[in-house]
Order: sequence, then C-alpha cells, then structure tokens
Amino acid sequence: MNRMTTVDEAVKLVLENVSPLPSEKVSVADSLGRVLCEDVRSGRDVPSFANSAMDGFAVRWSDLAGASSDAPASLAVRGEVAAGGVSRKRVLPGTAIRIMTGAPVPAGADTIVRVEHTEPRGDRVAVFRTDGEGSHIRPAGEDIGKGQLILERGKLLRAADIGLMASIGKARVTVRRRPVVAIIATGDELIGVDDKPTRGKVVNSNGYTLSSAVREIGAVPKSFGIVRDNRNRLAGAFRRALRCDALITSGGVSVGDYDYVKDALGDAGMRMLFWKVAQRPGHPMAFGRVGPRPVFGLPGNPVSSLVSFILYVRPALLKMMGHERLFMPVVRARLADDIRTARGLKEFVRCRIEEENGRLVASSTGTQSSGVLRSLSLAQGLIVAREDQTVLRKGSHAPTILLDHGQRWLQEEMGF
Ligand code: AMP
Ligand code: MG
Repeated sequence: MNRMTTVDEAVKLVLENVSPLPSEKVSVADSLGRVLCEDVRSGRDVPSFANSAMDGFAVRWSDLAGASSDAPASLAVRGEVAAGGVSRKRVLPGTAIRIMTGAPVPAGADTIVRVEHTEPRGDRVAVFRTDGEGSHIRPAGEDIGKGQLILERGKLLRAADIGLMASIGKARVTVRRRPVVAIIATGDELIGVDDKPTRGKVVNSNGYTLSSAVREIGAVPKSFGIVRDNRNRLAGAFRRALRCDALITSGGVSVGDYDYVKDALGDAGMRMLFWKVAQRPGHPMAFGRVGPRPVFGLPGNPVSSLVSFILYVRPALLKMMGHERLFMPVVRARLADDIRTARGLKEFVRCRIEEENGRLVASSTGTQSSGVLRSLSLAQGLIVAREDQTVLRKGSHAPTILLDHGQRWLQEEMGF
C-alpha cells in the first residue's frame, strides 16, 4: 500500500464496508432521533370523535339564519359539556349547549359559535355573529384516518413523529439499533482530565472530543480509556473493545518509532483496507474491518482526529443507524482571503462563515496546525480545497462544509 488513498476513494471504501445494523423494538419515548424500520399505519381515527375547536356553544345552523348584532338569535341553553365529558342531551331546534374546546360535539349540533360572539341572557344565550355553517368543528379523523399510512420506513424520527405515534396509541416501535462505539486513546504521554499536568504529559482531549462526536449523531460511545504505546497491551485492549459494534482509536497510527496501533490492530484481527489518505489535516489514518465491525485508526493530533471523524466515521455510523443522509451540509462560500494549499492533498480549512448581503463569506480561523484545536472550536465550516489546487483566490467561491446548523437564525430575522 504505497500510493496514498484519495479522500474520495477512502469515503467510498468506508461506506462499502459498513452495513445497517439490525432493528430493535423500543418504547416510543425512546425512539427520538432513530430511523424507523416499519411502516406505521393507524388503527384509529384521530381525533376519534368530532369535537369543538373553540370555547362557545354547540348549535344548529338553521337556528342562526341572519343572526347579527342588530338581530341576535336567541337560544335556550340546555346544558354544558367540557373536554373529557360527553353531553347526554341533544341540541334540539331553538337550543344550544355550552361547549369547551376539545369536548365532543353533542348530537343534533352542526355548528359551534365562539363565546366571543355571544352574550348570556339568563338561561338563554344571544348569538350576534357566526363564522359560517359547520364552523369550529374538528371532524373525527381530521388529523389521521383509520388505516392511513402516517410514517414510512426509513424516516428519521423527530418530536412531532413521536407525538403522532403516541396519538394513535402506538407504544412500541421498530427502529434501527444504535451502534455502541468503542473509543481508545493511545499514547505514553496521555493523562486524564483530573491528572496533574507534569512536563511532557498531554491531557487525553481526543477521548472527550470523539465521545461527544459519537453521541452528537445518536450513537453510543463506550470509552476504554488510555492505552500505552505497547503493541501487546494495545492488541489486548483492541480485542476487548471489539465486542462493540465499531472501534475508534486515536494516535499511534503514523510512522513514529512507537506507533504500534496499525500492527496491534492486525494482531487483533483487523483486515486493513487503507492507511494514509491524501488529505490535510489527518493524513495518517487506518481503516479496516474485524468481521462486520469497522475499525478507524484516527491520528492523534486533535484537529486531524476530529476532521477524520467527520469525513469517515460519521457517515459510517450514520449508515449503520439506517440514515439516508450520510454527509454534512455543504454551501458555496466566497473566500475573504487567498488560501494556499498543498498540491496532491485535499485540504479542509477551518473557517468562520458570515452572511454579507445575503451571501456567505468564509474566512480562515487562523493557524491551520493540526495541533490547534481552537481552530476547530472557532470554525463554523471547513473550506474544501481540491488536490489539484494550490491557491484558492480571494473573492472566488469554494465548497464549504457546514459545521454549524446555519448562518442565519430567526432571532436575526426578528431583529433581536
Ligand atoms: P500520534 O498520532 O500518536 O503521533 O500523536 C500526534 C500528536 O497528537 C502528539 O502531539 C500527541 O501528543 C497528540 N495526541 C495523541 N493522542 C492524543 C489525545 N488522545 N488527546 C490529545 N492529544 C493527543
Ligand atoms: Mg502517539
């Protein structure tokens, strides 16, 4: 494996080597953010009964002909029905039943008048205005009809979908299983976040970054802590971690004297599919499989590690979870400055993104050293420079991966 794999080849190889996990049944409350593995049909009408959309009076339209403030209709009030109750009385000609929002429309009524259009008159009510025949009645099945297909297999479940399933009484739902992702940080220099930072030691920030990145997309991180640069110890830890659905390692995958990760992954049974990608940051990176389980040997440099996660691990985990959209959103942004890049590598330049006169403008977050995690913390996007480019000119447009959800928010639209 001498020739470097291109980013495009690497992404393709990764996706060819992962498959969606089996499905599982979960309670509807636990299905948020999961991918639906069944077509959901309703066994009922929702609402199951015609009900009032307003607080007011249930009436017969024929009693209201021409009701106005000058000539109000006068009806005898025969009773009342609130949400959750049922009126035993019918609305007979010349009468009305007081009704609250959500209460079943009593027999005999065909129209609701809003309380704002009425005035009490002893045991009668005067109606000054109407909103038309049949108004303010929500018919049975207005939301969902019995037998209707309400959610299709493959749908990513959001809050409204969860509520929709609850509304038809569906308590359990079949969704794609979430992968449990083992995370192992490697390096003799690494210490925990609570440890004393003595000379030569570095806090294992990648463990935190990668766990969070896994959690952010709805997969389940499982940390196996820090393993020292020792081939046997590494191989042992990798074997244990491979009980999970996927393995991510950080560090030790380059060409240094103590970079044993690649060999130790081989010892643990990994078949290597590529090593070293023509990209910056994140050039040393191993990918392979142990049985169906994908293994990502990410570089130790914090920026490289997360960028490689975004490029390869994220789409792989999303595919395992059954998602259709595997990649980050991308926009074309105008460059605020010249950006120099290396020929032969695809580069991902950390940038801020601002909106100027409705157009997106990208500017570098400063030093692009793969050790400067702040460049990624500040970044709203990654400008993508192709392998054949050596300079991206100020004022030109470049594809830019969006790391933030959007550049413009409702609060700006509203002027807050
Ligand atoms: P390596 O890929 O092992 O050669 O490490 C490259 C650089 O990344 C070195 O400066 C390491 O100290 C740093 N590094 C490796 N692993 C981590 C980690 N888990 N957290 C933070 N920095 C790390
Ligand atoms: Mg190392």
